[in-house]
Amino acid sequence: MINWVLLGALVVFACSGFVWVKRREQRLHERYRRLLKTEAKRADEHVAQLQAFLSAIQASPNGVVILDSERRIEWCNQTAARLLGLDPVRDVAQHIAHLVREPQFLEYLSQEEFSHELRFDNKALQLHPYGLGSALLLVRDVTDVERAEQMRVDFVANVSHEIRTPLTVLSGFIETLQTIDLAPHEQKHYLQLMATQSQRLSALVADLLVLSRLDAKARPVLERVDIASLLQQCEHEARTLATVLKRKINITFDVEPGAQMLGSTSELQSAFSNLVSNAVRYTLDGGAVHVVWRGDKLSVRDSGLGIAPEHLPRLTERFYRVDKSRIRELGETAGTGLGLAIVKHVAQRHGAQLDIQSTVGVGSTFSLIF
Ligand code: ADP
Repeated sequence: MINWVLLGALVVFACSGFVWVKRREQRLHERYRRLLKTEAKRADEHVAQLQAFLSAIQASPNGVVILDSERRIEWCNQTAARLLGLDPVRDVAQHIAHLVREPQFLEYLSQEEFSHELRFDNKALQLHPYGLGSALLLVRDVTDVERAEQMRVDFVANVSHEIRTPLTVLSGFIETLQTIDLAPHEQKHYLQLMATQSQRLSALVADLLVLSRLDAKARPVLERVDIASLLQQCEHEARTLATVLKRKINITFDVEPGAQMLGSTSELQSAFSNLVSNAVRYTLDGGAVHVVWRGDKLSVRDSGLGIAPEHLPRLTERFYRVDKSRIRELGETAGTGLGLAIVKHVAQRHGAQLDIQSTVGVGSTFSLIF
């Protein structure tokens, strides 16, 4: 006989078991769905973080290449791509040595030790190993650094040359005076020539000191500058120079009475005096020099030799001279070749513009517009 009670109990048990299993399945499903959602969110955050990180490296002024342990490219920023001629998409997984073929680089890559950087073609590279054999290759554009280095080398060579010339003359004369019995008037003549050379050396050292002071100080110390008295001093120097040069030059100064400005007196004195003395030095007998100060503008006009247009862009370079043979002609009054470099420097430091207008055989006008 069927035990109805037992059967009923079994059915109830089976049904509730089924419901329980179903509920549990549902709960597991729900938990699994939530877990997946959390993981997906976390993965999105990681991708965003990685993107932000790569964007930061992308914005770096330096080139960055990530290499795997085989030295294959995993990623590179645009700067590295430009400097090394890579394609950030196409070249992924390519061996770096197949793309950057310079022998110096291949030799560098084959080394074990990367504590120094490698320089070639105005680029500086250095490999930084990390992790399990991966490496970061950093690349910098050193065009400006190399140019500055070249300028420094040229400057030292120029200074040495400028010093050696008068020194050679001086030591030659000293030897002559020591070995040859000269008549008193000849001795006097030689001593005069020696004095000229030593004055040239002093002028050179003085201008070098002015330039190094300008280089060393970031900004001029500002004070109220009495332009009128500063130009009065320049006028006196200009007349003395014309007398020494034995030239009759019509020198006129037209300065706004009580003219003043904010600046560095010593720097402006240097700049004004260089422009005015140049005007006198490069103007022949019978010429004219006219200096005007009006409304924050100095203009120094001369009726001198003038300058051909091709020289104008280089005039303010240190030791650039249009006609080197004039140094001998001008003797002790020859410039150091640093005058206009000083003028340009002072102008920049005072927010002024140096304007040069010149015509060969007619004359020049140098203006400082503050
Ligand atoms: P320097 O000491 O040789 O005069 P500067 O730097 O003052 O050096 O000037 C550079 C060059 O510019 C000079 O050698 C000269 O050839 C030219 N120069 C400067 N001022 C004048 C001028 N007023 N007229 C003609 N040439 C000038």
